[in-house]
Amino acid sequence: MTEKWTDFPATALTWEKRNGQLRVPVPELTEGIAASLSCYPSKAKDMRAIALPTERVPDWQRKAIQKLQQLLERYRALRVYLDICVQCGACSDKCHFYLGTADPNNMPVARANLLRKVYRFYFRPVEKILGGEAEAFNEKVLREWYTYFYQCSECRRCSVFCPYGIDTAEITMAAREIMAEIGVATKYVTEVVAKVYERGNNLGIPAPAWIDNCQFLEEELKNETGKDIRLPVDEVGAEVLLVAPSADNFANTDTMMGYAKLFYALGISWTTSTYASEGGNFGLFLNYRNLKRVNKRIIDAAKQLKVKRIIWGECGHAWRAAIYTNTLNGPMDFLDPPYPIHICQFTAEMIQRGALKIDKTANDDLIVTYHDPCNAARAGSLIEEPRAMIRATCNKFVEMPRNTIREKTFCCGAGGGLLTDELMPIRMAGGKPRAEACRSTGATYLATPCAICKAQLPEVMKHWKVPVKVGGVHDLLSRALIL
Ligand code: SF4
Ligand code: SF4
Repeated sequence: MTEKWTDFPATALTWEKRNGQLRVPVPELTEGIAASLSCYPSKAKDMRAIALPTERVPDWQRKAIQKLQQLLERYRALRVYLDICVQCGACSDKCHFYLGTADPNNMPVARANLLRKVYRFYFRPVEKILGGEAEAFNEKVLREWYTYFYQCSECRRCSVFCPYGIDTAEITMAAREIMAEIGVATKYVTEVVAKVYERGNNLGIPAPAWIDNCQFLEEELKNETGKDIRLPVDEVGAEVLLVAPSADNFANTDTMMGYAKLFYALGISWTTSTYASEGGNFGLFLNYRNLKRVNKRIIDAAKQLKVKRIIWGECGHAWRAAIYTNTLNGPMDFLDPPYPIHICQFTAEMIQRGALKIDKTANDDLIVTYHDPCNAARAGSLIEEPRAMIRATCNKFVEMPRNTIREKTFCCGAGGGLLTDELMPIRMAGGKPRAEACRSTGATYLATPCAICKAQLPEVMKHWKVPVKVGGVHDLLSRALIL
C-alpha cells in the first residue's frame, strides 16, 4: 500500500524540494496562496431556494456543535474516523491538492484534524487534557474549514492508503453539512442546486431549450447517418429514463449522440425528462437534505413517465449519488431491476451479449487512454465496464501508470463542487498528477465517463501542455457502432 513520489514515471512529474517539502512547481501558484484562495460565498436567493439560512445564523457556534453532535449520533463511522487516526501520515502525500500546493493543511490528515480538534474540544475532554490538539469552534476555525473543506474534492484517494480506511471525504462532507446548517456555503454549489429546483438541471437549461437541443442533435444524427435517430423528451411509457449530466445535452454532445445511437441500435424506447434533466447531484457536496431532494426528482420523474428502468449517464458523482437512491428515496421496486444502472454497465453488457455490431477500426486514428473518475471508480465500483467498452471499440488502448488508475485514480482536480473559476490555480495544481500520468501514455484521446472531468481535464491538459483530446466513452462507441 505504500506509494512514493518516485513511483511516478521519471519523465512525468518534475518535483522540487522547497522548505523541506516535495512539491510540483505550479507557475500561477505562489507559496501560501492555497490559504488565501476560497470559494465565493453563496447568494441569499440561492440559499433561500434550497432551504438554508440566507446568512450566518446569530448563534452559529452553538448550532454548529449541535449539528456535529447529531452527525456523530447518526453516522457512527464519523465518530470512528475521528477517534482512530494515529497520525501516521501515510495519507499525507496521496492528495492531489497537497501534491500540487504543498500547503500542509491540504494533507488529508491535517484537513481532517481541522474538524477533529473541534470534536476533541467538545466531545473528548479527556484527550484534550492528555494533550491532543483541541480548539473551540471560533471565527478562525470556521475560516479554515471554509477554505480547506472546499479544497477537498471528496475523492477518497487518501482512504485507499490509510491503514485504517479512514475516509477523509466523509469528514469533509460532515464539515460542509455543519457549515450549511449555520448559513455558510459556496456560491457555485448552492447556485447549481437552486438551478435544479428551478429548471431541472445543473446548467439551468429551460425545458424549451432542452427540447431544441435534442431536436438539433437529431438533425445532426440524420446528417451523419441518414437515419431517424431520436432523442425523445418527456415520453410517457418509454422503457428507459436516461438521466445524463445536463452538460451532455449542451456541451458533450458526442456523448449524447452516442447514447441515442446505442438505444436506436438496440431498438429500446427511451426518454429524458425536463423535470429531472440532470444526473448530477450537487446536494452530495452540500448537505443530506438537498442530496435527498435532488435525487427524489429522478424517482418522481420515473414514476410520472411510467418507465421500467432508470439509467444514469456519464457522470462520476451522479453515479455515487445514484447508488444511494434506494436508501434516499426507495424502494425502487416499481422498476425492473429495482436498482440504479449506469450507462457503461448497460452498454458493456450489451456488447458482451453480442447485441451490438462494432467496427473497431473506426477509432484507429486514436491512441486511447482512460481516466477513472474518482466517484465512479472508488465510490461506485465502475472500473471494468468502461474498459470493456473501450477494448471493444478501439484497437489502441493504453493504461496510465498502475498507481494512478482504478481505485488509486487521481481526481481531475475539480470534483466535489470545486469546478469554479475562483479556484483555478488550485484546480490546475491539483490536476497535475493526472496530466503527467496521461502524458506518459502518449495517448491522443483521454476517455472519461464524467461531465466534471470533461470540463476540467481539457483546461488541465492545456495548462500542463499535454496534447490530448478529452471526451466520453460513448463518443468512442458512437464512432464505431454499425447501424
Ligand atoms: S478526499 Fe481526496 S481531495 Fe479530500 S483529502 Fe482525501 S485525497 Fe485529498
Ligand atoms: S493514514 Fe489514516 S491513520 Fe494515518 S494519518 Fe492518515 S488518516 Fe490518520
